Amino acid sequence: MLVTVDGIVIGRRNIGENSCFIDVLTDEYGVIEATAHGVKKLTSKNAGAVTLFSYSKFCFNKVGVKYTLNSAEPKFSFHGISSDIEYLSLAVYFADIVKDTSASEQENRGFLRFMAVTLYELDKKRISLELIKSVFELHITTMLGFAPDLRACRVCAKYEHEKMFFDNDNACIICGECIMDYGKPLAELIPLSPTLLYSMRHIVFSPVDKIYKIDVKSDDLKTLSEITEKYLLKQIDRGFRSLEYYYSVHRKI
Ligand SMILES: [Zn+2]
Repeated sequence: MLVTVDGIVIGRRNIGENSCFIDVLTDEYGVIEATAHGVKKLTSKNAGAVTLFSYSKFCFNKVGVKYTLNSAEPKFSFHGISSDIEYLSLAVYFADIVKDTSASEQENRGFLRFMAVTLYELDKKRISLELIKSVFELHITTMLGFAPDLRACRVCAKYEHEKMFFDNDNACIICGECIMDYGKPLAELIPLSPTLLYSMRHIVFSPVDKIYKIDVKSDDLKTLSEITEKYLLKQIDRGFRSLEYYYSVHRKI
């Protein structure tokens, strides 16, 4: 059976000298693993469309649950990512999160578009790497069904307060008035400035095309980075070697 589908190559492993396996993120079938014969040959017409982080139209031959690449046509390439090891390592971490949390053969609408928008931001370098990382971590956790409850204080339902705190274990916020009776030591809660809470609400509740239209000042960004990474890894209950690699090449500002 022939399957034609748009997707992004989010993983690639060599098989011998000329061929490779590719992992392709799609809306219709989740992440597809396909064998791509001969794509490493200089003469291959599909070579450009199957490089890591290419957004292409793929035609696969599907037999049972196995996919083989028939042809591929590039739609968009994010060239700026692969030329910078920091950006590339972050994109690989994002791809690992998607691969680890996506079931194959299951419709997965929204992830392809979010990945494309994220790769576009990494390619354009319009906002900082740290901010892209935090936005991706918090929004993908939301897409996976683990959104923190940022609507209002868990105890008194206040929407705004000059002092709000994030409770990572219970995925909720508590206001400064309720904190004393909340029953958790202050050291286990993270203080949120009003602007940081606003940014977190933006990341959780905005549509994907507006998600990266955000600016976070450096003090808030430090706290945001701590929150989003810890929150994502706790919710999906795993770590990533690609995240360790990102830190090994990341030039901290
Ligand atoms: Zn309260």
